[in-house]
Amino acid sequence: MIAKSIESLFEQRQDHFLIPAEIVANVQETNHLDHAFLVLTKIKYSKIPVLDNEQHFKGLLSLSMIAETMLGMNGIDPSTLPRHQVREIMQTDVPTIELPYDIEEILHLLVDQPFLVVVDKDQIFTGIVTRREIMKGFNYTAHELEHYFTVTEKQTEKIEQES
Ligand code: AMP
Repeated sequence: MIAKSIESLFEQRQDHFLIPAEIVANVQETNHLDHAFLVLTKIKYSKIPVLDNEQHFKGLLSLSMIAETMLGMNGIDPSTLPRHQVREIMQTDVPTIELPYDIEEILHLLVDQPFLVVVDKDQIFTGIVTRREIMKGFNYTAHELEHYFTVTEKQTEKIEQES
């Protein structure tokens, strides 16, 4: 359990967490890989969400997944890309989160991922929560904690026993 004081300060910032779906670059699961390659090359992000034509979240796609498809016996062969669709190579074992946010879950998941996908109860893609926005939330929390709460140090022996 995270401290209630920390949780409540994070919650004050939660309106800033979401990057809404409308401004998140994405590809469709049926897009061919040559198109997806162009999209990923043009934007500055290395991994982006994959959606179906009803905006359901389906997986994630990165440039390295596409590069792997191009690797043949004789080096790199981009001519294979138009023959494959994004859904054949995307990553599907992706944790997703829903509103209302569970701050503890977000903190755990962001240890291993630079961003988290937010969906609604029908798996419709809502947006992403990035590690960057959560770091800003942590910065706010660290600065404001003692404005809102009284924090007192425990005796040193007690801290040592508990750690
Ligand atoms: P950041 O913390 O802003 O560097 O974002 C972390 C990761 O989230 C990026 O590397 C992308 O994979 C993803 N990301 C952030 N913003 C966007 C966006 N507008 N569109 C697509 N992906 C994004």
